Amino acid sequence: METFNKVEFSIVIPVYKEEGNLNRLHEEIHKALQNERSFEILFVDDGSNDDSWEIIKSLSSKDMRTRGIRFSKNFGHQYALHAGLMHATGNAVVTMDADLQHPRSVIPQLLEAWRKGSKIVNTLRIPNKNITWIKKVTSNLYYKIFSFLSGVRISPGTSDFRLLDRQVVDELVKFNESGVFFRGLVSWVGFNNSQILFQCNDRFSGNTKYSLYKMLQFAWKGITSFSIVPLRLGILIGILTSLFAFYQLIESLYLKLFTDTTVPGWASVMGLLSLLFGVLFILIGILGEYIGRILVEVRGRPRYIISETIIPSEIHGDRDISINNKDLSYTSPESD
Ligand code: UDP
Ligand code: MG
Repeated sequence: METFNKVEFSIVIPVYKEEGNLNRLHEEIHKALQNERSFEILFVDDGSNDDSWEIIKSLSSKDMRTRGIRFSKNFGHQYALHAGLMHATGNAVVTMDADLQHPRSVIPQLLEAWRKGSKIVNTLRIPNKNITWIKKVTSNLYYKIFSFLSGVRISPGTSDFRLLDRQVVDELVKFNESGVFFRGLVSWVGFNNSQILFQCNDRFSGNTKYSLYKMLQFAWKGITSFSIVPLRLGILIGILTSLFAFYQLIESLYLKLFTDTTVPGWASVMGLLSLLFGVLFILIGILGEYIGRILVEVRGRPRYIISETIIPSEIHGDRDISINNKDLSYTSPESD
């Protein structure tokens, strides 16, 4: 890893096609951290094909507290977070989105809780009008199912906006699995934690980078990387259907031997058969999914590739990292 002056804390921001947000975000963070002396902002460009990287370069040429890492292509939000944690130098790391949905005013609260001794400071989105009821219901349901299946509790409304102490970061970057799911891992690693509520803003510019497909993929990856309960589903359904088949067998034998009737019904047989075949294929699919995950893990390919890194000391020379806020000039208006 590069040699870099250590700072008190780092702000890690995954960026995917966020050209309309970066200048404003950078400015907002500096406003929120006016009283802080030693921090860095680390943008991780997850293979954006817009001007995001140019903007990150220009920000770091003006501000020596800003650095950047660029992926060689789009690898995904969770990997961008991982790379950010790997490269952050602070004694604490705040991770947040680039789209200004995570309000800057929460950052000082995260720091305060950390300075009081919390190793993990999570945030919880207060449900508000910006979030559609479908998103609310599906998200609540998902985290309930997730907790039930994995035994790892994640509160509904959790996002990847949080602060992690260096000790936690050092543990998290040790995880070598390719399907990293930070929301689960952060809860899994333990440590004392606290929680801060916040109102989620609207996305400032651009559209969500999580399509329905990506969202479902993310949700499924989360479950399969934390729980093997879906694999046991087959056993449960097998037991239930065997019991049912056994009952039917006894029943038809009884009717045949002791009565004049025979068991009627082509339709019922076909219905049952197709149902069971359906279930069988779903279970084979689930099995395949886990085998696929094993294959990915066994191959052990790198999870992401970094194509460029901006180290401010190369631009600015080895000056002290904690410069005065007045050195930064901004033009955009206050937002809150
Ligand atoms: N992001 C990323 N790689 C991706 C998708 C998203 O780095 O492939 C970043 C994105 O730039 C943003 C954060 O992850 O900073 C969250 O994405 P988004 O705001 O689109 O998700 P939403 O808030 O809609 O769940
Ligand atoms: Mg967002």
